[in-house]
Amino acid sequence: RSKQSQFKIVLLGESAVGKSSVVQRFVKNSFDEYRESTIGAAFLTQSIHLSKNDILSSGDNDNSITTDTIDDDGITVKFEIWDTAGQERYRSLASMYYRNANAAIIVYDITQLESLDKAKYWIKELQRQANKDTIIILTGNKLDLNDERKISIDDVNEFTSIYNLLNFEVSAKTGENVNQLFKDIAIKLVIK
Ligand code: GDP
Ligand code: MG
Repeated sequence: RSKQSQFKIVLLGESAVGKSSVVQRFVKNSFDEYRESTIGAAFLTQSIHLSKNDILSSGDNDNSITTDTIDDDGITVKFEIWDTAGQERYRSLASMYYRNANAAIIVYDITQLESLDKAKYWIKELQRQANKDTIIILTGNKLDLNDERKISIDDVNEFTSIYNLLNFEVSAKTGENVNQLFKDIAIKLVIK
């Protein structure tokens, strides 16, 4: 059986939560303390390799994927990433980017309470308007600023459990959990 291995991902969320920084960490493994805000949307690509074991040992694998269905070399997944601008004036354009997305990463900043409200707004919009197959991942960024945290993981879990969403905390600055985020998305999409 041949599995699709190219997927579209869109990032949504309030301005300055670090969407572009998360993408930059994943694509270039770098971070800028001062970066210009995104205009409209930016398009980037990056591939990620999944070993056979990554896929078979995933907790979500319902055994529809077995040893025979994956090559010993595993699978290389290519992501086409749309990094959108959070500004109000671009909001109406967002549907162009999420409409065909296989996964949507909704980003908030763990130090900014309002950014979680904005994230919830996006999740509701996606659940109304996006393709039902689009995987939604709620992601708290700036984990390196844990001392200034305003949003606890419990606040978020309350919400993600209702909507059955994946939930991650990452730091684009240190890189903590960023590869894991994309890797988990890749696995989810491959075993779907
Ligand atoms: P976007 O508007 O959501 O794309 O946000 P940017 O990626 O442009 O980041 C906004 C600001 O937050 C920039 O000054 C970044 O350097 C900073 N930033 C982004 N990610 C992190 C992070 O993980 N930790 C910290 N401390 N700052 C971050
Ligand atoms: Mg940006």
